[in-house]
Amino acid sequence: MARDPRYDVLFEPVKIGPVTARNRFYQVPHCNGMGHAMPRSLAAMRGMKAEGGWGVVCTEEVEIHAKSDISPFHEGRLWDDGDIGGLALMTDAVHKHGSLAGIELQFHGPTSDNHYSREVAMGPSHSVVSNYEPAQARAMTKADIRDYRGWHRKAALRAREAGFDIVYVYAGHDLALPHHFLQKRRNHRTDEYGGSLENRARLLRELIVETKEAVGDTCAVAVRFAVDEMMGPDGMTAEGEGREVIEMLAELPDLWDVNVSDWPNDSQTSRFSEEGFQERYIGFVKKLTTKPVVVVGRYTSPDAMVSLVKRGIADFIGAARPSIADPFLPKKIEEGRPDDIRECIGCNICVSGDYTITPIRCTQNPTMGEEWRKGWHPEIITGKGSETSVLVVGAGPAGLECARALGQRGYRVSLAEAGEALGGRVTLESKLPGLAAWGRVRDYRDYQIGKMTNVEVFRASRMGAAEVCEFGAAEVVIATGATWRRDGVGRQHPFPVPGFDRPNVLTPDDIMAGRLPPSPVVVYDDDHYYMAGVIAEKLRAAGIAVTVVTPAYGVSVWTTNTLEFKAIQGRLLKLGVEIVAHREITAFHGDRVETACVHSERPSDIACAGLVTVTSRLPEDSLYQALVGDSAALKAAGIARVTAIGDCLAPGTIAAAVYAGHRYARELDGPDLGDVPFKRERVALTG
Ligand code: ADP
Ligand code: SF4
Repeated sequence: MARDPRYDVLFEPVKIGPVTARNRFYQVPHCNGMGHAMPRSLAAMRGMKAEGGWGVVCTEEVEIHAKSDISPFHEGRLWDDGDIGGLALMTDAVHKHGSLAGIELQFHGPTSDNHYSREVAMGPSHSVVSNYEPAQARAMTKADIRDYRGWHRKAALRAREAGFDIVYVYAGHDLALPHHFLQKRRNHRTDEYGGSLENRARLLRELIVETKEAVGDTCAVAVRFAVDEMMGPDGMTAEGEGREVIEMLAELPDLWDVNVSDWPNDSQTSRFSEEGFQERYIGFVKKLTTKPVVVVGRYTSPDAMVSLVKRGIADFIGAARPSIADPFLPKKIEEGRPDDIRECIGCNICVSGDYTITPIRCTQNPTMGEEWRKGWHPEIITGKGSETSVLVVGAGPAGLECARALGQRGYRVSLAEAGEALGGRVTLESKLPGLAAWGRVRDYRDYQIGKMTNVEVFRASRMGAAEVCEFGAAEVVIATGATWRRDGVGRQHPFPVPGFDRPNVLTPDDIMAGRLPPSPVVVYDDDHYYMAGVIAEKLRAAGIAVTVVTPAYGVSVWTTNTLEFKAIQGRLLKLGVEIVAHREITAFHGDRVETACVHSERPSDIACAGLVTVTSRLPEDSLYQALVGDSAALKAAGIARVTAIGDCLAPGTIAAAVYAGHRYARELDGPDLGDVPFKRERVALTG
């Protein structure tokens, strides 16, 4: 199909100092949990973005010195010449597809703990380091500042040697030393690097000038700067010092990559912000500079992208998450098939890879992070290995992705769903407050399957063992999901909690089916991901008085891994939800819960008219068990194999269910992958 001419502007080349990007699609720096520890995996992932049409592909933050070591996290590393080779793998992979490679040079200062290097952290002034570490950063002397500028210069030269086209001076996210020098709250110096904004911006100015002197003849020098820290006058603001910094340095770099700070503010989930939410902060930047400007805001709509350029807000559409969910987003627009874009749902499961120090994963894109170790391509899959036919039972995220990917391979697939609607849990959960975008998990797959003549969908078709046997497919996949437990068993309780069998105990499944508990209600969060917080929000909106009780230190604590924890507590408290942390529920008496402090066991009661328990789930695997328990019936029906996938095997994230469906489809008729079904990057025994 031909490209829609409305989108032509997105494919114009743009000059950035001495280099030229082939289009306006710009993958901004983003973490990925692989970093210096997995250079081949990283290179393959970045190369995939270039293949998919991103005109610029950047690294994550790359530490430039052992004094800025953020172990145990896996970020990039360019401490000495020995690190050049690993990064060159990435620039090669990006250049192979005609894109530019950018590197974000990073020195944390007081926000690095230096666990591995055991160096003393340093910053503009004496200060504590991050993360409750029992350590402090020391104030830098002028000699330290000179040293740091030298390290930055050396890193820029090494970056050029590694093949990078764009070299960043990084002053964002409240994580980078030049940003810390700019901040009144961190910079208490009385010399020429402290005091007035001009003095606090001195270091940033020097770094831009010196990086240009070092590599500016062949590399573009970009600045990533957070114009607003979303903390009012204590930080940079778009109306105040953030704006003044841009005014002051407007023409100095070759490119401005602007956003808000800190990371949770920059990478807000769809639960808390809409596409383009940063425009109100960064909208002014392009008016103050002639240099190209990159902005972000979870853009997945080509119309919104065009509008950004036409209205003079940005020259480049910056993206981390949209490029993770769909590395081929630009190509799909270019080829006139924007409806094929796998839109980011804004859930931040991708961020959890960085936080758990494991390769990046994505709810929408099951191949993310698997490009090298499994050889998975987001758009290409090998053809079918046999003429076998497959019946997939259950059209939640696992079943839908399984049917889609099997269909793409060319198999004859039947997808049977008990309900009228497809999507399983995402269809139900997307009706909860703030989660509407999650429906995209279903929509992308529903649309793709709709185009396939070899995949047949049967709605309103609840399958029992007899129906499955009658169906006559050789391969049967059971993806029938899971249900929330009612008995309280979860992390805190290995056994059912007394009184949880009362009629006024509801589960999230009941709430999603439209039932509401009486007011006041206690919501018990022993699950710790998003569900209890979202349920509390829904009940509060229905006018019900809500207290959330949790053995953890807050509601939905796992969402620290998706950058949402603080925003969730804030939203619930503002809605008037009471949060009772560090307490388990030991019994429910119909009109009150008995609780105990998890540290001291001190008891206390909370009066309530109902209880919603959010603890753990049980697989809905009765069909699977019935089938595998009757091998004679399977044999008679010609069923070669029955496989349970997704929540039906073990309840987990939506990302895990999509991955399970995809994996089944990839591996059907494939070779035995052995004990470790992926390649590993082993440590080379040199040094
Ligand atoms: P997952 O996350 O593993 O994909 P979900 O719970 O989202 O699981 O989806 C499971 C789907 O399976 C739901 O849409 C449910 O209606 C469907 N389902 C459950 N049991 C049957 C059955 N016996 N026959 C057909 N569909 C079923
Ligand atoms: Fe988007 Fe979620 Fe994928 Fe991250 S994990 S890219 S937020 S869909």
